Amino acid sequence: MSVFRLDGKRALVTGANTGIGQAIAVGLAEAGAHVIAAGRRSCAETVQMIEAAGGAGEELAMDLADLPAAVAALPADLDILVNNAGIIRRADSVDFTEADWDEVMDVNLKAVFQLCQTFARAAIGAGREGRIVNIASLLSFQGGIRVPSYTASKHGVAGLTKILANEWAARGITVNAVAPGYIATNNTEALRNDPDRSRAILERIPAGRWGDPADIAGAVTFLCTPAANYVTGAVLNVDGGWLAR
Ligand code: NAP
Repeated sequence: MSVFRLDGKRALVTGANTGIGQAIAVGLAEAGAHVIAAGRRSCAETVQMIEAAGGAGEELAMDLADLPAAVAALPADLDILVNNAGIIRRADSVDFTEADWDEVMDVNLKAVFQLCQTFARAAIGAGREGRIVNIASLLSFQGGIRVPSYTASKHGVAGLTKILANEWAARGITVNAVAPGYIATNNTEALRNDPDRSRAILERIPAGRWGDPADIAGAVTFLCTPAANYVTGAVLNVDGGWLAR
């Protein structure tokens, strides 16, 4: 079998109803994995897209705002976990509310840790290898503007990815992150609707275009395949060259 295939593997993607998570779910299924599309809303559209592409998948209700329930709902037989779900709150830091801090940190960082921990306990307990890919951000490296909890959470995702990679490499579990650049999804709608910010962003991207969710899916799928067996603790930028500039 090709080292780029995932046949026989079971993968779960959080936030798989839309955007980057939906594209990742379809990408993993196209590579042969059985994909559990998890979301706080229905992932029926994603399952339809998977089946239309000739793959296999199912949906699972999982609201990360209710973390104990989400952790309890995580299947124990997974080979691959993709922590994609994430939220952003925008306000000047002087005005930023405690709620906007806590909600973002809980979904973007605490939930990522607890899902990684639960996945790894099951895999180690069963003597099974595993693959974790966390979705980071350019704001795992840069400061951004008016998004303090998002930036803190995504810097945290990069650090968490590295410590878990260190701890679990010898147990056969790789832990990597993909840092998307500016991708056209709900998450960036406000930026794309702001003509000044939109133009400034586009002018700085060497590739000269916003990213497509499928651009992220390819990188995530690679990190889950045997082709990436010796890759762990990496944060892979998929940003049209943004950080190289
Ligand atoms: P999106 O379209 O807003 O999708 C975010 C996903 O997370 C949605 O499925 C959303 O569900 C889900 N989610 C949010 N809160 C949740 C909760 N409490 N429980 C379960 N799921 C929840 O944005 P996206 O751009 O695809 O973002 C996906 C990931 O990429 C995020 O981690 C984001 O930070 C990261 N990222 C995006 C970009 C970009 O340019 N778009 C850049 C860097 C990083 P709902 O549909 O129900 O809200």
